[in-house]
Amino acid sequence: MLVCDFSKRAGRVFFCMIQQTKTVQVRNPEPQRGFSGLGIAPKLLEVLVNLKFQTPTPIQSKAIPTAIEGKDIIGIAQTGTGKTLAFGIPLIQRLMQTGQGMGLVIVPTRELALQDNESLESLGRAFHVKTAVLIGGVAMGYQLRMLQRRPNIIIGTPGRIIDHLRQRTLDLRSVKILILDEADRMLDMGFAPQVNQILEAVPKDRQTMLFSATMPENIVRIATRHMKLPVRVEVAQSGTAAASVEHELFVVKKDQKTRLLDKVLSEHKGSVLLFSRTKHGAKKICRDIKTMGHSTAEIHSNKSLAQRREALEGFKLGKYRVLVATDIASRGIDVKGIEVVINYDLPENPEDYVHRIGRTGRAGLTGRAISFVVPEQRYKIREIERLTRSSFPITPLPELPPVRPGVHVIDEDRRPVFSRRTQTHARRAFGGQRRFTKPSSRY
Ligand code: ADP
Ligand code: MG
Repeated sequence: MLVCDFSKRAGRVFFCMIQQTKTVQVRNPEPQRGFSGLGIAPKLLEVLVNLKFQTPTPIQSKAIPTAIEGKDIIGIAQTGTGKTLAFGIPLIQRLMQTGQGMGLVIVPTRELALQDNESLESLGRAFHVKTAVLIGGVAMGYQLRMLQRRPNIIIGTPGRIIDHLRQRTLDLRSVKILILDEADRMLDMGFAPQVNQILEAVPKDRQTMLFSATMPENIVRIATRHMKLPVRVEVAQSGTAAASVEHELFVVKKDQKTRLLDKVLSEHKGSVLLFSRTKHGAKKICRDIKTMGHSTAEIHSNKSLAQRREALEGFKLGKYRVLVATDIASRGIDVKGIEVVINYDLPENPEDYVHRIGRTGRAGLTGRAISFVVPEQRYKIREIERLTRSSFPITPLPELPPVRPGVHVIDEDRRPVFSRRTQTHARRAFGGQRRFTKPSSRY
C-alpha cells in the first residue's frame, strides 16, 4: 500500500455553498493532518490505520466532514487524489450508523465498478458490509444471488442496473445514499437518459454525492436539479490536470505516428497506457506494438469482460508493458506506477484529456503524458489549454526510425469526420433527430 503525504501538494482549497445564486467561498490553506477530527467513527479510523492511510488528501479533508453530516456534495479534485475514499468513508459510516438503507454507486465502466467495489469492500470488511456489483458481461443469475444477500452497497454501470430494474430483480426504494463517480460523464448526453431512469427508481429523500476531476457548469446545473442545496467542495478548479504530470506534444503527420510510437516506446522502459480513438484503431496499434517487440494487450468494448480483466490484470502485473485502450480506460482506473500515458489519437473532448493523463502521476507519484497531434488538430490543443489553464509547448519531432517490416504505416481508421455544418445537414435529413451512440458501445 502506498503511503504519501498529499497535503504538501495541496493548493488553495475552496469550499463553497451553492445557494440559489449565492456562493460563499472560504479559503483554507492549511489542510488537516491525520484522519482524526473529520468526524470519522473510531472503528473506521482503525480500519484506515490498518490500510495504511495516514494523511487525508485535501478532497478527503474537505468532503468527509460535510458528507458525514448527510449533506449533498459536488466534489471536484484532480485525478488520483483519493476521491473514492472521500465518498467511501462517509458512505460506510452513515450506512452503519443507521443500520438500514442502501448505498448506490453508479459508474461509467465495468472496470471502475470492480475497482470501487474493491476499495469499499476493504473499508467495510470490519463492519461486514455486503456489496453487489452489477455490470454487463456477468451472468444475471449470479448477480441475482448477490442481490438476494441484501447488500448494503450496490455498485454498477447504468445499463445493467436498468436490466435488473426491468426484470424486477432490483428494488432501489431503500437507497439512502446515491453516488455518481465520474459524475460529469454520468450526466453527459450519452448516459443521462439511463441515469435519469435509475433516479426515478430511487427515493427523492436521499443523500446525493457527485465526484469528478472535471465538472462543466452545464452539468452542474443539471446535477443540482437532482440534489438538495449541494455543498460544492472544490479542491482544484474543474479541469485542473494532475500537477505531477509532465506534458509533451508532438505535431506529427498521420503516417508518421507508428514510427514516432516506435521511438517513444524505445525511450521509455516502464508501463505505458496508450489511448486510441477507436476500437478498430486499438486493435491495429496493438498488432504494430507486438511487431515492435513489446508485450501488449488491448482493452475496449469489443472484448469480453474476461478478456478486459485479463488485459488490465496483466498490465498491473507487468505481463503486458503497454496497454492499448479506448476511452473505456480514461476514467477512474487506478494502476500504480504507469510511467507514460500516450495519446496516440487526441480525445474527442478536452475533459477526456484531463482524465486520460490522470492515469499517471497518481497518489503523489510523477508521470508523463505524450500526445500525438496531427496538424489539423492543433485547435484541440487550444481547447485543452483553455480547460486546464496551462500552455503546452510543442516538442520538435525527433529523427524517426525506419518503418519496420510488418508495421502498418497508413492509418486504417477511415471513419469519416463530419464538420458541424455537415452534421446539421445530416440531422435535418434524418428528420431533426439527434442520433446518439449507445454509451456502452462508444469505446
Ligand atoms: P481519484 O478517484 O481521485 O482519481 P482514487 O480514489 O482512485 O483517486 O485514489 C488514487 C490512489 O490514491 C489510490 O491508489 C488510493 O489507494 C490512494 N489514496 C487515496 N487516499 C489516500 C491517502 N489518504 N493516502 C495515501 N494514498 C491514498
Ligand atoms: Mg475516482
